[in-house]
Amino acid sequence: MKSSEPNSAHGIVWNLGDLYSGIDDPKIESDLSACRAACDRFAESYRGMFSSNEGLSAAKLKRALQELESIYEILGKIGSYAGLLTAVDNLTAANRQLEDRVQQAAVEMQNRLTFFDIEWLKVSDETAQTLIDDPELKNYQHYLAASRRYKPHTLSEPEELLMNHKSLTAGSAWVHLFDEFTASLQYPLEYQGETRTLTQPGILALSYDPDRGLRKAAQECLYTELSRHELVLTNVFNAITQDHSINDQVRHYGSPMASRHLANEVPPEVVERMLEVAEANYSVAHDYYRLKAKLLGLEKMATYDQYAPVATKIPSCQYDQGRKTVLDAFEKFDPVMRATAAQFFDKHWIDAEVRPGKRGGAFSASTVPSVHPYIMLNWTEKLRDVSTMAHELGHGIHQYLSRSQTYLNFHHPLTVAETASVFGEFLTFDYVMAQESDPEVRLGLLCSKIEDAFATVFRQNVLTRFEQAAHAARRRQKLASDEICEHWWKANQALYGDAVEMLELYRWGWSYIPHFIHTPFYCYAYVFGELLVLSLYRMYREEGKPFVPRYLELLKSGSSAPPDVLLKRVGADISDAKFWQKGLDVLKDMVGQAVKLAGEVKG
Ligand SMILES: [Zn+2]
Repeated sequence: MKSSEPNSAHGIVWNLGDLYSGIDDPKIESDLSACRAACDRFAESYRGMFSSNEGLSAAKLKRALQELESIYEILGKIGSYAGLLTAVDNLTAANRQLEDRVQQAAVEMQNRLTFFDIEWLKVSDETAQTLIDDPELKNYQHYLAASRRYKPHTLSEPEELLMNHKSLTAGSAWVHLFDEFTASLQYPLEYQGETRTLTQPGILALSYDPDRGLRKAAQECLYTELSRHELVLTNVFNAITQDHSINDQVRHYGSPMASRHLANEVPPEVVERMLEVAEANYSVAHDYYRLKAKLLGLEKMATYDQYAPVATKIPSCQYDQGRKTVLDAFEKFDPVMRATAAQFFDKHWIDAEVRPGKRGGAFSASTVPSVHPYIMLNWTEKLRDVSTMAHELGHGIHQYLSRSQTYLNFHHPLTVAETASVFGEFLTFDYVMAQESDPEVRLGLLCSKIEDAFATVFRQNVLTRFEQAAHAARRRQKLASDEICEHWWKANQALYGDAVEMLELYRWGWSYIPHFIHTPFYCYAYVFGELLVLSLYRMYREEGKPFVPRYLELLKSGSSAPPDVLLKRVGADISDAKFWQKGLDVLKDMVGQAVKLAGEVKG
């Protein structure tokens, strides 16, 4: 779009007045000092409470938790305000200063409150359980139980301190090296007699180019360059996996994934079952890759064709049209969904205009239970923006409905955090597909939806299988580059089978993926989140309206119970392989539909 054309989201800016009236609102200062005073009072009243038997009662603990929540509530309100101001305008120095100041104050106050969690961990299991089971503390049952889950893995205070200090030169030093090193790499791409030097994002972006020769050259250039740095990349990978293994030993985790499962509050056997079911469905991917080869006019796909564009005919979309589409799609599901989403537009809780100093991307900020979420978008008139709008509004509705919870039960754990967002995207996708009559456009939309889902389900499954193999091998001995490459190759071969040809250099595909270095075993949460929603979506399709109230109840429950318990209430048994298969059946149907559409387009 030319800059002279007015963007249809021009003037769509949020009104943060429900948080504070402006950056010079005196309430910001008075809230900050009230918060400080409340922290002091809190420490005075409750320090040592858990160690003195006479002072410890369910009623007192409840009072303490409620006071804690009101401190977090104010702190969250100020922090949200400052964060949202800079998100849309980081050019104004005053905004950045406020954010800095608030962040500092938050850390300082957080430090004054940490004694509470530490002392709670020191309570004997027996006493803790009595308190957790006390009806008076029913609202805090999950919070109290969950915050003790690290107890068997927590060391003494001096040991923790030492681990913390040493991590600067151990784990985190390698992470910094990896980040700075990979960011500094330059990729000299030679193509059709021309050489240009690209950064990593630049070379990766070429995987989406329509020119096959260029895609191939870019992938070869990427991996050639990475393989030249095998000494650094292999050492970093070895150090990180060994650091992980040492931490596991010291903290008594039985297996490499155990700490991640604990953080995600998911039983290990559930994750293993999910990975197996996804793997058993790799043939769905093969069917799609064969179709895509045909659509691209190829004998067979190669690794560098995966993200090649299929569609040439994707229409643009104006902001008001996007708004109407998403609201109508939500209405079809349930009027409550529409009404909740409509508020965001009507009450100016959305900032959609693209302007200088505004952060890229999109998000929904939950803020605090006493206010409401705010959504930031960057509307560029693309059809993809509609799906982002549906995604963020899904988050927004989830966060809005969770306001019925108190602060400590308000935030969603990672594994279910994307439930409403991806669900909202699916509702909107189905609605758009039903409205669209041009088979070519429909095919384009469907293919990009399938590819997005594959990137989240199948690819992340492969990444997790690779990590499992590599971490297991690392526990035996230091890994040579060849060995890591071999684990990567095997995990990928399982997915690609004979449907996709793997470039020999593709062996180096593991070497630039930041998740492996930053947060080992993070990737399965993507598989979990996406398949969970696909399965829930399938349940909705099968059951229709009776599913709706249970789903809305799930959104309202925030983090008041562990994920498996919340999901059981919707009728989803995540320990059952059949539940995960439902999600994969959705993908299977989509691929089947694409094959059919492709026939129509050709015919
Ligand atoms: Zn999201």
